Amino acid sequence: MSSSDSGSDEAMTDAQQQKGFVSALEMPDVPSQKLQPHLELRRTRVLCNADAPDNTDTIQYSGAYASMGVDNSLRLDQFANNFRVEVKRLTEDEMEFDMVGIDPAIANAFRRILLAELPTMAIEKVLIANNTSVIQDEVLSHRLGLIPIKVDPRLFDYLSENDKPSEKNTIVFKLHVKCGKKGPRMTVTSDELKWLPSGSELLKASEDSNSSSRAETYTSFTCSQDSLPEFSSNPITVYPDIIVAKLGPGQEIELEAHAVKGVGKTHAKWSPVATCWYRMLPEVVLTQQIEGKTAEVLKKKCPVGVFDIEDLGDGRTRATVAKPRACTLCRECIRDGEEWEKRISLRRVKDHFIFTIESTGALPPEVLFTEAVKILEDKCERVISDLS
Ligand code: SF4
Repeated sequence: MSSSDSGSDEAMTDAQQQKGFVSALEMPDVPSQKLQPHLELRRTRVLCNADAPDNTDTIQYSGAYASMGVDNSLRLDQFANNFRVEVKRLTEDEMEFDMVGIDPAIANAFRRILLAELPTMAIEKVLIANNTSVIQDEVLSHRLGLIPIKVDPRLFDYLSENDKPSEKNTIVFKLHVKCGKKGPRMTVTSDELKWLPSGSELLKASEDSNSSSRAETYTSFTCSQDSLPEFSSNPITVYPDIIVAKLGPGQEIELEAHAVKGVGKTHAKWSPVATCWYRMLPEVVLTQQIEGKTAEVLKKKCPVGVFDIEDLGDGRTRATVAKPRACTLCRECIRDGEEWEKRISLRRVKDHFIFTIESTGALPPEVLFTEAVKILEDKCERVISDLS
């Protein structure tokens, strides 16, 4: 209750006392230090109604529930107790894991770091000696740039404008393919790219035609990369079956491709993930018992099989929620009238994220995530040192 001035507050309090009013917080069924269920639901869940999601905000303000005696401040010990990561699926290039007890902004920070800030090696410069194929030089270079290179980018340095391409910042590949004049059309795949561990083989045109000095190549390697321990047993390769070009009879491509280290925010070719995404954990709640034929209808409505039918005996059956995690929030089950919306409540848990990382192959997905954590940690340390 509210009043316009303090005098009327007192008057109201007297009137309330005379009528036997008590504060809502003093009622015996209102638990102290705990939100009432409908507020707790709004604090922790997004409500997915038939028309649009509702209650999508996260309640950040520490004093949001102070009037109810509930402290909403962010506390490190609470965060440490609640936070957990559970890996659900892990393959060579894909990982699905649950990240629980975290704010959406942090989950999104990991996603953005993975997409745009984790470095990889990708082809940046293409020196074309001959291209008689129908693919223009620019398109061919772009296609080569998008081929994932299987090498750990942590073993390389960035190549800055003033640096010379060396064995520590550049990987050189050669591509020389020719389709026979009488042969069928030829498909050129990425396995035709051959690694040149000693660097470029193409000679730079000398500016001084009278110079007697030896002609330079486009790189300055001091040693062969395959003599380095990190590559001698694990040679640098690309994925073998990516189509680069198609050649007609007599057509030829001869080029050298130089890969350097970069990040996805400069160009998507350096992004270490094919995709990286998350969704909040779905929660499907039956607010009423759904029995018999209606239960059958409900089961058929869901395209991903979230619902099942339980036999109650005596010929009675009821609907159950068997696979809530599979829910895609298509809302088919709450269409066709308000009565369905009253029977089923679709929600999302605000601090539980199902995270999926699909690596392009340079690094395994679990390593990519740990590298993303390190980058976020570095950023936080930078902010702290700037502020202190
Ligand atoms: S929202 Fe779609 S996927 Fe989810 S339970 Fe309903 S019908 Fe199934």
